[in-house]
Amino acid sequence: MKRIALTFDDGPNTSITPQVLDILGEHGIAASFFLIADSITPESAQVAKRAFSMGCEINNHSTTHEHMSRMIPDQVRREVENCTQKIIELTGRAPRFFRPPYIDINRDMFEEIGLTFICGSGCQDWVPDISAEERIERVLANARDGEIVLLHDMPGNVNTVEALKTIIPELKKRGYRFLTCGQMFDECEIEPRHGWMYSNVFQTEPRTGL
Ligand SMILES: [Zn+2]
Repeated sequence: MKRIALTFDDGPNTSITPQVLDILGEHGIAASFFLIADSITPESAQVAKRAFSMGCEINNHSTTHEHMSRMIPDQVRREVENCTQKIIELTGRAPRFFRPPYIDINRDMFEEIGLTFICGSGCQDWVPDISAEERIERVLANARDGEIVLLHDMPGNVNTVEALKTIIPELKKRGYRFLTCGQMFDECEIEPRHGWMYSNVFQTEPRTGL
């Protein structure tokens, strides 16, 4: 059976994130959420806790969601460590994975950040004009064993909520099981490599995706 990981960036919030969780719950699957620490409020924290209690994985998407390739090393560390701390407060567990905002990276960031870098195959779902149908088509076209799918649960992203209602049952029909990023690496027995950024756990190049 093939394996796929749905991942969501830019939460948590009280509008779109709960709708994504409702759909995941209906289908009895878990996903991975990459949180922006500055988006964690008392209200959205409850949503993130709900995700964690459903078996979803909570990961790091920085504190301020700014471009990080031009930051000095101290700033890079603060961006990531603060977010990690917030996640530990929410879940009691440190995140294993980091997605750089805008996938904007440089070599130094791999030295400063002790988490596995995740990219994922995107469907440009951060562009409001990309319809739900186009998102569905792109995700299904990119689907393969070990793939990490990059989506966004950012406020207003109703087209992705809509697309999920087709994407999940269609992938199930095609024989996919849904794993978190951690489950994907563990189950496939892939040891993440330093300096690599993953879009598929079986990739043979240091960087792929987008
Ligand atoms: Zn983002």
